[in-house]
Amino acid sequence: MDIQYDVVIIGGGPAGMTAAIYATRAGLKVAMLEREAPGGKLIKTFEIENYPAIKAMNGADLAYQMFEHSTSFGAEYLYGDVVKIEDGEVKKIISSDGNTYTARAIIIATGTKERLLNIPNEAELTGKGVSYCAVCDGAFFKNQVVTVIGGGNSSLEESLYLSQFASQVNVVIRRDVFRAEPLIQEKVLENKKINIIKKHVPLEIIAEDGKVGAILLEDVETKEKMTVPTKAVFPYIGADPNTSFTNDLGISDKQGYILVNDHMETSVKGIFAAGDCISKVLRQVVTACGDGAVAAQSAFHYIKG
Ligand code: NAP
Repeated sequence: MDIQYDVVIIGGGPAGMTAAIYATRAGLKVAMLEREAPGGKLIKTFEIENYPAIKAMNGADLAYQMFEHSTSFGAEYLYGDVVKIEDGEVKKIISSDGNTYTARAIIIATGTKERLLNIPNEAELTGKGVSYCAVCDGAFFKNQVVTVIGGGNSSLEESLYLSQFASQVNVVIRRDVFRAEPLIQEKVLENKKINIIKKHVPLEIIAEDGKVGAILLEDVETKEKMTVPTKAVFPYIGADPNTSFTNDLGISDKQGYILVNDHMETSVKGIFAAGDCISKVLRQVVTACGDGAVAAQSAFHYIKG
């Protein structure tokens, strides 16, 4: 059988793009398959301040530079949403559009997807004030009140971004402490436009003329309810791995994160994984890039025997 590629990288975020650089520089024939625009979560991030040598850069700009670099050594960039992997001496990667790609090795770098609040009106008002991307939609809410849910790095970073446009940014957290790193917390606490609502959870988004008009919150202790007027709701309550297409392979933990060893090898020979979709302690652009480099090097050794 004609094998199309040495390595197919599934996912074009920082982990996948770095794997593409390392694999092509090692002389492998590489394809990178992505179902959205290249860059992964980076393109939805306002600013990156912790990638060495780049003090601060807009996420989309960094993604674009990485993309140019990742394809400059010959990696093919393909559009596709992978629905299944068939394991064997030759691996088959099956995409939802009916295309099948063959490779000797696979690197899975599919990242995570935003968690939903799963409350009434969330789905109905998505695109009508409910948004999971502050960078994409924040500017629509100039001089208006917006509400962000969650106290992690994403929530606080995007709240700071939104404070450039909004008249007020409510940040709703369910405990009385944040999960985000201290430096971001400090910036948020200093920002006069940001109003922190502690120990509350969202119960329902309230519509007004077909758009978001308010959010109903509940005090986690007293169970008292409070309606907060807002024109937008940005849920940033964490993420889950994009790995359901690997279910048949049995390579993930209970949450769906792929289990790998130090070489980024999964329990299936010739299948490697990297970036936010693996079980790990620190999900950052820089750690995703590191994983991608290791996965590519391991794939090279696997292929060359
Ligand atoms: P995260 O760190 O898991 O934080 C999720 C936040 O949402 C927490 O405050 C959590 O509260 C809250 N939450 C979860 N479920 C909720 C619910 N049902 N209702 C209300 N609140 C809820 O998620 P993230 O901010 O998306 O970050 C994901 C990963 O990417 C993390 O590893 C993070 O460090 C990393 N990241 C890093 C950077 C950076 O370093 N610049 C930027 C973005 C993301 P509890 O704290 O009470 O659980």
